[in-house]
Amino acid sequence: MTPPVTRRGDTGAAVAEIRDRLGRLGLLPSAEPPVDPASMCFDDEVDVAVRAFQQQRGLTVDGIVGPQTFRRLEEARWSIGDRVLSFSPTHLVSGDDVLALQQRLSALGFDLGRVDGRFGTRTDTALREFQSSVGVDADGTCGPETFRALARLARTMSGGGTGAGASAMRELHALESLCSGVADKVVVIDPGHGGEDPGAIGPSGLREKDVVLSVALQLRERLNALPGLRVMMTRDADFFVPLHERVKKARRVQADLFVSIHADSVRDHSITGASVYTLSYHGASSEAARRLADRENATVLKGGVSLADVNPALASVLLDAAQSQIMGASVEAADQVLGALDDVGAVRKKAVQHAGFMVLKSPDVPSMLVETAYISNPSEERKLRSASYQEQLARAIESGVVNYFQHHPPDGTNYANRRRDGDTVESDSGV
Ligand SMILES: [Zn+2]
Repeated sequence: MTPPVTRRGDTGAAVAEIRDRLGRLGLLPSAEPPVDPASMCFDDEVDVAVRAFQQQRGLTVDGIVGPQTFRRLEEARWSIGDRVLSFSPTHLVSGDDVLALQQRLSALGFDLGRVDGRFGTRTDTALREFQSSVGVDADGTCGPETFRALARLARTMSGGGTGAGASAMRELHALESLCSGVADKVVVIDPGHGGEDPGAIGPSGLREKDVVLSVALQLRERLNALPGLRVMMTRDADFFVPLHERVKKARRVQADLFVSIHADSVRDHSITGASVYTLSYHGASSEAARRLADRENATVLKGGVSLADVNPALASVLLDAAQSQIMGASVEAADQVLGALDDVGAVRKKAVQHAGFMVLKSPDVPSMLVETAYISNPSEERKLRSASYQEQLARAIESGVVNYFQHHPPDGTNYANRRRDGDTVESDSGV
């Protein structure tokens, strides 16, 4: 049943239903004691909640509940475990529970294509692979037994803070090595800003959030076309993602590389050129201090060592060692991307820069932030607007990433010997 389009000022049963669903999602305070549904009003509070929901789901944020928003509200009712899930060719099952299943399978390294909340054939294949790898009957039906296996792994992956982190991570790694496709390098692409945060705005109105998304989507397409590489996006549409969520996504999939894409802006409109940043030493040490202070939140480093499992002195040494290695790898990768951008045209400085940007702070994922150009400069704004320049940028970042993976030695890079000179900017804010 499709209800009529509903918006602010409307009243009636459809409004009552919308209020109820938003309430269950925690976007509205729980409904007052039952009133006559016909008198339920689509007031300002509902309008705000609808917009928040639309933003969360990457829908057009207009506060109007049309067929698409209504369908997504409907799908949002399901959480994982609520119903048995399986592939049905005649009617694709969709919902938040399917999305959660896909996210878990994807985080475990199973290739299922789009994580879109729709139970298609690739989700079916991935689910069967998962089932056979954990010794559950591989029937493609996600019922109680499979839910239990997923829940157990989800707990181990989130760290939990129980002290069981290290053994749980070993179990997870063992599982991963059984699964096909896990040898792929995972690149997380992070288009800056989005949704209510437009980023920088050029003199003629070009918005940073739009340009960087377009470059990022092209980069995704290029990298996904290469064998052995798999891309995850922190956002793939115009919605807002908090900075710490971006870092969390990269860590959750144990990314091999994190690339944040931005466009720079300064008051002096004559300044031009691309820059590439990695985490500054100061940014890294303050983050390390924070993680050590917060050990009960069980930072688990790649390789399965949980900081909660060891004494503070050892935790500090381990974190230092891991971070040096990651920072070295970050600089190498950034250097390759900077070199490739230099071939395309103007880079502002021929050395990788260092800053304390929040999104660069994963302790176990090599990370860089690319400022593609100065959107505040009228001629660079024009270039950024053009499809051909966006493609050149995507191509350049792609070739830098590929060079890095080709040249990157598997382990043991010494950051101290490789640190480059460059300006250091300290900032915990977004860029
Ligand atoms: Zn930015």
